Amino acid sequence: MKVAIYPGSFDPITFGHIDIVDRAASLFDQVVIGVAESKSKNPLFSTDERLDLINEVFSGNSKIRAIGYSKKLTVDLARENNAIAIIRGLRAVADFEYEFQMLGMNRQLDNNIETVFLMADAQRQSISSNFVKEIARLGGNISNFTNKFVEQKLKDKFK
Ligand code: ADP
Repeated sequence: MKVAIYPGSFDPITFGHIDIVDRAASLFDQVVIGVAESKSKNPLFSTDERLDLINEVFSGNSKIRAIGYSKKLTVDLARENNAIAIIRGLRAVADFEYEFQMLGMNRQLDNNIETVFLMADAQRQSISSNFVKEIARLGGNISNFTNKFVEQKLKDKFK
């Protein structure tokens, strides 16, 4: 049973994240989405709200589950879930520097856990949670960027 962990803030989950999860699920037996509390990023949604949205999106898919975590290293989260890999999505060159550094540090923390980088479909590469939130806040149409459950939750937040 090959398990991969996909850590991030997911505030909220977008079609970019979903694309990466689907690709990871085709490579691994199970994908565990690790929802970091990310207090320092002042998330719009609580960890529980973000988990609810993810569970809504992937309901019925037994290969995918989501767990919240805080004050914990990603490599420890991976170990606890018997994951052999950390999944990260790469959007643009801008992501590379940070991700490259994080891989290097994580490898020194645990050399047995491999980081796997995946790229979303071209149309989904530019989607970011921050822009989706900003567009929703200004009343724009976000149906091309995220699932309808998330869209509704964002509308409720900015009502
Ligand atoms: P973080 O706070 O760790 O950046 P995010 O929720 O923003 O968390 O993203 C989690 C992971 O998903 C990161 O590896 C990020 O690069 C990736 N990701 C987010 N949006 C996209 C996208 N549109 N295409 C590919 N990867 C993405």
